[in-house]
Amino acid sequence: MVPGRFVAGGRSATSWATSRLVSRRTNARRTENVQRRSLHLAPPFLLDDYIPRYQLLSVQEEAKKRSAAYAHLSNCNLCPRLCSVNRFKETGHCLIGSNVLVNVVAPHFGEEPCLQGHHGSGSVFFSGCNLRCVFCQNHDIAHQRNGMDLTPEELAGWMMKLQQVGNVHNINFVTPEHVVPQVALAILAAKEMGLKVPIVYNTSAFDSVESLKLMEGLVDIYLPDFKVWKDSTSKRLLKADNYAEHARKSIQEMYRQVGDLCFTGDGIAKKGVLVRHLVMPGKEEEGIEIVRWLAGSVSRDTFVHIMEQYHPRAHVGKTKRGVSGEKRYADINRPVTDDEMGAVTKAARDAGLWRLQEAARHDGFNI
Ligand code: SF4
Repeated sequence: MVPGRFVAGGRSATSWATSRLVSRRTNARRTENVQRRSLHLAPPFLLDDYIPRYQLLSVQEEAKKRSAAYAHLSNCNLCPRLCSVNRFKETGHCLIGSNVLVNVVAPHFGEEPCLQGHHGSGSVFFSGCNLRCVFCQNHDIAHQRNGMDLTPEELAGWMMKLQQVGNVHNINFVTPEHVVPQVALAILAAKEMGLKVPIVYNTSAFDSVESLKLMEGLVDIYLPDFKVWKDSTSKRLLKADNYAEHARKSIQEMYRQVGDLCFTGDGIAKKGVLVRHLVMPGKEEEGIEIVRWLAGSVSRDTFVHIMEQYHPRAHVGKTKRGVSGEKRYADINRPVTDDEMGAVTKAARDAGLWRLQEAARHDGFNI
C-alpha cells in the first residue's frame, strides 16, 4: 500500500474523497434547484416583462371578435347547455340576456397570492351561472338574478375604475362562462379607454371550445376549477351531464392558448393556466383522477391549487320537505378531512405535479 493512502471498498481514499465532493456538490446543486423551482420563478416561468394579449390584437382581429360576439348572442350555443336562443330577446338556462348582471366589482383579496398581490385582484362577480351546484359557495350571487344591469361599455368603465382607483394587478372575471360575448366586447372597449392590466378568466370549466376561441387573444390567465370526475357525481351535484368531458376539453384548449403559469419578478402571475380543485367530502378518489389527468394530459408543470375550503352551502344540509329531520345531500354535509386533502395532494406529487399552491408561512404572500 502506498504510504498516506488507504483503500476503501476497492477505491483509493483520494478517489473516494473526490467522489464524495462531487456528490456533495451535486446534492447542493439539486437542493438549490429544488429551492429555485419551489419559488416558481425559475426560467422558463419567469418573464422579464409582460404585455397583455389584448394589447397585441390588430384592428382587423378586433373587428372579427366583435362580429363573432354579436353572432353568438343572436343564437347562443356558447356553453354546453346549447340553448339556441336569441339573447337580445330571450334568455336560456343561464337566465342572462344581452347585458350582464354584475353583483360585485371590487379589489378582491380572496384569490391566490400570485393573483391578488398587494393591491388585490380586480374582481367582477357576475350574477347567474350555467351550472347549478347544490353546494355552491357563491349561491346568493350565482343562482339568483341580482346586481347591476350593465352594457359591455358600462362594464368597461368599471374595469377602468378598478385599474385607476384600485390599482389592481389584473381584471378577474368570476363565473364568466355564460357572458363570454359581453366580456369580449367589454375588454375591447376597455382597451380603447386605456386598460393595461392582464385579464383573468375565472371559470367552473363548464365552457365550450367555441367560446374559449372567442376569448383567445383576450385572456391572459385562465383559472379553471375542475370540480368532479364522475358523470354520476356531476349529474347529481352540479346538475350537468358530462361535466368532466367538457372540463377536460376546455382546460386543454386553455393550455393550448396560454401554456403554463408565468410570473414577473415581483411574484405576480401574468399569463398561463392555474387549475383549482376544491376537494369534496368523500370524493377524494375523483380528485386523484383529476390531478393524474392534469399531469398526464396537460402538463406536469401545471400550477395547481388543491383547495380545502369546502363548506356545506346552498342546498346541502337543508331539511328535506315532508321528511322529518332528514337532511339533503347528507353525504357532503361536512368539511373535508386532513386525510382527504392529503390523499389528493400526495397523488398530485406522485403524478409529477410540483407547482402546487401552498399556504403562506408568514403574513405576506408566497411567490
Ligand atoms: S350561455 Fe346561457 S343561453 Fe347560452 S348556451 Fe349557455 S346557458 Fe344557454
